[in-house]
Amino acid sequence: MNLILLGAPGAGKGTQAECICNVYGIPAISTGNIIREAVKNGTELGEKAKAFLDAGALVTDELVIALVKDRLAQPDCQNGFILDGFPRTVVQAEALDQMNVKIDTALDIEVADEAIVSRLSGRRVCSSCGASYHLEYNPSKTEGKCDSCGADLVQRKDDHPATVLERLRVYHEQTEPVKEYYSKQGKLTVVDGQGGVKDTSELVLKALEAVK
Ligand code: AMP
Repeated sequence: MNLILLGAPGAGKGTQAECICNVYGIPAISTGNIIREAVKNGTELGEKAKAFLDAGALVTDELVIALVKDRLAQPDCQNGFILDGFPRTVVQAEALDQMNVKIDTALDIEVADEAIVSRLSGRRVCSSCGASYHLEYNPSKTEGKCDSCGADLVQRKDDHPATVLERLRVYHEQTEPVKEYYSKQGKLTVVDGQGGVKDTSELVLKALEAVK
């Protein structure tokens, strides 16, 4: 299955991508994770992307499209993939069509803005393995430490309140039209993401069963 996950930052795309990856055995490709890793490693992509990332702005279409094109050409994508965080603009969606990649569905996880702000400001991530926690809804067993690898938990720079509001603004302005793009192709599937992780996973897997 070739799948796109849409939804505001903090809607739970990463967590759901992991769940789908486990059930369907297809790789979850997070452009955000790839870009963060590039920034951490100081690669050419990282150098170009850093300022956008820190400001909560989108990295240029050109950079992200090239990155996804390379990634989808890897052998592990042959039997399907989950794109988490791409496309985020109509230009990116058009580029994906031009790559002749057949998309089965674009699954949109819907969460209201107020819930997004609360989720993102309480989110903490592992500085080593990237596992995600929430101070209130999904705390780690030992405060400030990752359950899986024991490394320190940190707040992503772009999860600071002012940057969260900017990311939401960018989402409404640039990414919402992508929903319309897939809706016109008859490929949009909407799932309520307001509930807990487990409830949302159930809805997501049920929706994907209907697509298969
Ligand atoms: P995420 O982890 O998906 O919220 O992505 C974090 C940041 O990476 C975004 O705020 C953007 O700066 C950048 N980014 C990730 N995916 C894209 C994309 N498809 N287009 C442009 N920028 C992106």
